[in-house]
Amino acid sequence: MNPEEKRCILCSKIINNYDSNFNNLKIDEEHIANLCSECIDKFMAWQGEIVAKLFPTKALKKRYGSKK
Ligand SMILES: [Zn+2]
Repeated sequence: MNPEEKRCILCSKIINNYDSNFNNLKIDEEHIANLCSECIDKFMAWQGEIVAKLFPTKALKKRYGSKK
């Protein structure tokens, strides 16, 4: 086992081409999470959808807001 191997905190897979900038999420001094690019993509897509639902574009707000 290579001690340098980093495993993804979400899917437990070994992270290929680990990049400390891209795959390392620092929450605070004591909490650091390693995420593989696959999970980052899924996470971004998931959050993106939620953000899109919660915060619709200004155009949508204007459209629905003007009906009140
Ligand atoms: Zn992962």
